[in-house]
Amino acid sequence: MQQIFLIRFNEIFLKSSGVAKNFLKILKTNIYYGLKANNIKGHINTTNSRIYLSKFDIQDVSKIQDVLKNIFGIESFSLAYQLETIDQEKIFDFVKQNYSKYILSSNTFKIKAKCINTPYHTKDIEIKLADIFDAKVDLTNPEKTIYIEARNKTTFVFTEIISGLSGLPVGSAGKNLVLISGGIDSPLASFLTLKRGCYNIYLHFHSFPYVSKTSINKVKEILQIIKKYQNDIKLYLFPFAEIQKYIKANTEAKYRIVLYRRSMMRIASILAKELKCKAVTTGEALAQVSSQTLDNMSVIDDALSILTLRPLVGFNKNEIINLAKQIGTLDISNEPQEDTCTLFTPKHPNASTCLRDIKKIENEINIEEFEVKLIDKIETINI
Ligand code: ATP
Ligand code: MG
Repeated sequence: MQQIFLIRFNEIFLKSSGVAKNFLKILKTNIYYGLKANNIKGHINTTNSRIYLSKFDIQDVSKIQDVLKNIFGIESFSLAYQLETIDQEKIFDFVKQNYSKYILSSNTFKIKAKCINTPYHTKDIEIKLADIFDAKVDLTNPEKTIYIEARNKTTFVFTEIISGLSGLPVGSAGKNLVLISGGIDSPLASFLTLKRGCYNIYLHFHSFPYVSKTSINKVKEILQIIKKYQNDIKLYLFPFAEIQKYIKANTEAKYRIVLYRRSMMRIASILAKELKCKAVTTGEALAQVSSQTLDNMSVIDDALSILTLRPLVGFNKNEIINLAKQIGTLDISNEPQEDTCTLFTPKHPNASTCLRDIKKIENEINIEEFEVKLIDKIETINI
């Protein structure tokens, strides 16, 4: 008897048929590479309503479940037995043989059937199958459920529907450059953009050799976790210390945070365009720190020349912490690090800078020329 994974998607149905077809192709590819990365073999078959995964080694079932749980675009999935018949008697025999120990007389249970193109009705098979068991039926809150799906010439029998992450397949929305810092916020911002189908590329500004490599190593570790949700990950490392030193040597302390951030944003915009990204994403949340007041965010935003996504803008810190825990990045983010800016950070940054003043300073110190010279020093790492 063949066992098969039934993989369901949902939001893809909202798209026109051409778009849906493309999304499905991407989802299939992502499942293929997700399995391959875990040395799992199997055959993936796509239809308009489902994806089927078959011909896998039965010992790999729990590994497969772990992979499917983390693939965006999958609404839910079930491990089912596939019967090459819709004959009622054969289905009854199969259920009797295989599930008599699954539903005990002390359990409450329900049979949930779906019949398409069969000579009998859903209700017939539900009532007749329920008669097999010497246990109490509970249609609203059963302890055990057996699902029967009979259509055309095939019947699937299963007991569990496991939720997926839903969202849209990674890569279906286009490329996006994520500014990742090693803190709590940016990994979550990354997760949320992956969920909406972005193919993320990552950029980290580091201050090595003026500080240790801790932030770089943390970002790499965080991306190892994010790799559960995105098959291949590229990280760009920008040596930012020279710029920080230059700004520190030439400007008043109270402006520096905003100047650093604007510099990061200009560099990110250049790299994003070079890499054909449609957007830059940050982990900024409104009013979280002094650089994230509405005043300062608008001054920082002025330095970006590309669409900017800030998926955390409406989240409280506690909500961010809880979600970061769920996606698995919180513990690494919480490890201590000399923040890239700590060495260069003033004690009392200005919470409300004026764009005109900032632009005047930038012109005086010719910062953009300085930045462009460093672009060639970016390193690339495959995670
Ligand atoms: P996080 O937890 O992501 O570090 P944060 O609350 O510490 O966020 P900031 O340090 O003000 O916030 O940074 C805001 C956003 O700017 C970050 O979420 C990230 O997207 C980006 N950013 C900050 N520092 C860096 C860095 N060194 N490299 C890349 N991006 C950065
Ligand atoms: Mg930070």
